[in-house]
Amino acid sequence: MRGVVMYAPGDVRVEDRPDPQIVDSTDAVIRLAATCICGSDLWPYRGFGTSEGPDPMGHEYAGIVEEVGDEVTTIEPGQFVIGSFFASDNTCEICRAGYQTSCVRRQAVGAGGAQAELLRVPLADGTLVATPDIPPPDLIPSLLAASDVLGTGWFGAVAADVRPGKTVVVVGDGAVGLLAVMAAKQLGAERIIAMSRHQDRQKLALDFGASEIVEERGGEGVARIKELTDGLGAHSAIEAVGTPEGMAQAIEATRPGGHVGYVGVPHDVTLLADELFYKHVHLHGGPAPVRRFLPELIDLIWNRTIDPGRVFDLELPLDQAADGYRAMDERRAIKVLLSVG
Ligand SMILES: [Zn+2]
Repeated sequence: MRGVVMYAPGDVRVEDRPDPQIVDSTDAVIRLAATCICGSDLWPYRGFGTSEGPDPMGHEYAGIVEEVGDEVTTIEPGQFVIGSFFASDNTCEICRAGYQTSCVRRQAVGAGGAQAELLRVPLADGTLVATPDIPPPDLIPSLLAASDVLGTGWFGAVAADVRPGKTVVVVGDGAVGLLAVMAAKQLGAERIIAMSRHQDRQKLALDFGASEIVEERGGEGVARIKELTDGLGAHSAIEAVGTPEGMAQAIEATRPGGHVGYVGVPHDVTLLADELFYKHVHLHGGPAPVRRFLPELIDLIWNRTIDPGRVFDLELPLDQAADGYRAMDERRAIKVLLSVG
């Protein structure tokens, strides 16, 4: 099969790789309908990380089951399925509490590299969710978005306790931030303030339900949020960047008693307990337990209530993945879909 491999920062290649096989009796192998490049793939691309490479890339996937192991009972060949970046049994106590990304048996699905034609998914019964039928082609981008960026934005909104009547700030205008806007809208937020200074992203944020845009950043951005909220700050903030600046902005923009949901993978973020002490904000976040939300998200997409696939603003064949990485690195694209086959 063809698959994307990162050899070093900035060095992404598409090459022939061995077809994945069933290794454990609880595995499935799926043929991807499409795959994509994640904002988090840009961290190693830009040289942040410890890997010595080469690494198979990609952790977002949707496609048709080709083969399952002997112990798989609910997932069958021929089904169209979606799963998340961590495989989970969905039966342990942590999973049942809704934290499948901390499943006691969790395994990284991305280890095999989902930017490829085929992918091995461990713990198939717990990890994969089948759609009601084979989807029409126009739904595939949205279903693929559910695998990570939509589910992650959704968790950000849930972790930030977004509810009807609340004012929500979204820090970050990448795919996760934009889909956090969509999630906040679906969860009934009254006002959604998107922090963005890029016109194409502002437009999408407004289409997804943002009521206001704030272009200022840092202290100025926080001052603007305070101005818009009677000096109090927002009820909820969703952090979808993962930088010290993004985290500080989210915490500072939240009123006492409010909630910060943080889903940007942190890089060099340090929180000081003595500074946090007087903020009185709830902090909750982490690798999104996308599996918790998948049935609901698939339903909303299937019924065409939401169209998260709109975050893909560039589509390339898998073999041109290197161009896709460049486009996202240079912010020419919000999110790149790689077509397979
Ligand atoms: Zn579990």
